[in-house]
Amino acid sequence: MLKTKELSTFDEVNLFFDNAADRLGLTNGLREMLKRPWRELQVQVPVRMDNGEIQVFTGFRVQHNGARGPYNGGVRYHLGADLEEVRALASLMTWKTALVNLPYGGSKGGVQVDPGQLSMSELNRLTRRYTLQIEHLIGPNRDIPAPDMGTNSQTMAWMMDAYGQLHGHSPAAVTGKPVEMGGSLGREAATGRGVAFLLQEAAKDLGLDTDGARIVVQGFGNVGSWAARIMADNGCRIVAISGVDGGLYNAGGLDVPRLQEYQKMTGGVTGFTGGDQISNQELLELDCDVLVPAAIDNVITVDNARNIKAHLILEAANHPITPDADRIVNEGGVTILPDILVNAGGVVVSYFEWTQILQEFHWEESRVNEELQKTMLRAYNEVRSRSINEGITHRQAAFEVGVQRVARAVELRGFV
Ligand code: GLU
Repeated sequence: MLKTKELSTFDEVNLFFDNAADRLGLTNGLREMLKRPWRELQVQVPVRMDNGEIQVFTGFRVQHNGARGPYNGGVRYHLGADLEEVRALASLMTWKTALVNLPYGGSKGGVQVDPGQLSMSELNRLTRRYTLQIEHLIGPNRDIPAPDMGTNSQTMAWMMDAYGQLHGHSPAAVTGKPVEMGGSLGREAATGRGVAFLLQEAAKDLGLDTDGARIVVQGFGNVGSWAARIMADNGCRIVAISGVDGGLYNAGGLDVPRLQEYQKMTGGVTGFTGGDQISNQELLELDCDVLVPAAIDNVITVDNARNIKAHLILEAANHPITPDADRIVNEGGVTILPDILVNAGGVVVSYFEWTQILQEFHWEESRVNEELQKTMLRAYNEVRSRSINEGITHRQAAFEVGVQRVARAVELRGFV
């Protein structure tokens, strides 16, 4: 049988890194420093479950590179969150924060758990125990956790509280908190909003009219649902969406706010009457203008890359396309805007949240969104001109900008 994935996700991200390092002419020593995580921690997370029994989960925090500032990265609660995946995601945070030019390094955390199986009080205890286990690595000037898949603003409030019990009230120690706890207006929608900003800009370059443009969104969590909703508000037609339990198709456009309400009530998208049921695989291969993978990694592989019919792919998820699939899709003439650019809106507004707290001065949501737009478009234009001038893909250009910034910071620090 054909094995579709021989490399780990971390190896795959490093293939993208190597392509950038080759063209930037980095020395072998510098490459090694930039590739390998600076620090990795694996911890046990024992939780007293509601039935009185103890269940032991495994958690991780990987600090990939801190040359440009405190590490920053989300915490993922997911059964697939093993050390190798968290490492790959931490490295993507390094290149992402550098590409959008935030004064941060890159990290990621995770606990191997299906959060849907835990009650709120179990999740609270899990979060507190995980925070205690990684407490010595994090802090407002060390490493700032944020939400990711399976976690949300409530998780961050618990983390802040657990950290504060040891270190005193420290709202700048985590981002993505509830607004009532010092979170930033606009943070929850930020990643999806960033995706929508990039679509408007890329569409101009591709000669694509976004009014009525057919968009397919894979994933209806925080990122997918906000991206779909904002793109629909901007006049796009969201022809298909998939959630954890399956996909929906409606050639005339799905009613996204109604679907959001439906998902809130039922926990999924199945049974929604405004569209026809389709499988996740069918959804990825639909004829459309724009495909937005907004769920997990490795969804476009050599197995389905040749069947992709979109003209533009916006990688709202982290690492949704394997390197082999990336090559095939590119050869097919599809434009791909890479994850480290497309989904950077979350960490950009996490940075705004951190700066607002440090200054004790909170911004209006309109200011958050304006600054987000400026930051995203600045990064897009850098990637775009590098890609045109050098005749390279947007991914290659994005990695080159990010890797070059981090390499320069390592050199300037002069610690080797
Ligand atoms: N978890 C998100 C990401 O992968 C956001 C991280 C953050 O807000 O720092 O980019």
